Amino acid sequence: MWQKKWILCNWKMNGSIAKNFQLLSAVKQTQPTATYIGIASPYPYLLQTSEILRDTQIASGTQDCSRFKTAGAYSGEVSAQMIADCGGTFTLIGHSERRNYFSENNETLRCKLENALNASIIPVLCVGETLNERENNQAENVISSQLEILKGLNISQIAIAYEPVWAIGTGVTASTSQIETIHKFIYNEVLSMLCKDANIRLLYGGSVSAKNVQEILTTQYVDGALVGGASLKADEITDMIVSIEKL
Ligand code: PEP
Repeated sequence: MWQKKWILCNWKMNGSIAKNFQLLSAVKQTQPTATYIGIASPYPYLLQTSEILRDTQIASGTQDCSRFKTAGAYSGEVSAQMIADCGGTFTLIGHSERRNYFSENNETLRCKLENALNASIIPVLCVGETLNERENNQAENVISSQLEILKGLNISQIAIAYEPVWAIGTGVTASTSQIETIHKFIYNEVLSMLCKDANIRLLYGGSVSAKNVQEILTTQYVDGALVGGASLKADEITDMIVSIEKL
């Protein structure tokens, strides 16, 4: 899977048992083999997702995990161990909505990252700048400080999602040259922190759709996409998978 193109679906706070069933049935029918597909569902639906996707090559995962290491008195929290126990194999970490609404900082995110790794779950670290930061030529500085949480980790593979905040859910996609520039920057930064032959998957996220996914995924330094809104529509996501399978 570390050599494949990736499509991760971030359902955010959407879904119901009935809707998930329909959507997952449609995704399953695409029978992807060349693409690594993952569904990041809300916590209550993780077991349903894992069950429906059992015996397929499609992974189930979550959009976050707890910063607390061990089970205990942390009401409302869901640990990385619990995610693994329910069949989750990956989790997003540091999505901009969590950084924004829950004030998640590097210290918190480093704990989440370590907890995911200790539970053998793949952490997908989300980074990206706001419009204001881009306009002030701060994009690379901001991303560089977000990536600092990787320092000192003894890992040989990591997935990073570059999601410019201004492109998330707006219908505005970063241009392929903007994506390539930032992905190259991230690649070099991450490589300087990990071992030389580290396997790095760089995903782009921000208004990816069936229309633009091929162009984005054939851009240099792009190994996949993190898809929000479009992953909730059966036609969009299945079209997307089918077109990536052909690449
Ligand atoms: C996201 O939330 O990770 C995302 C990329 O959303 P959208 O595809 O809707 O822009």
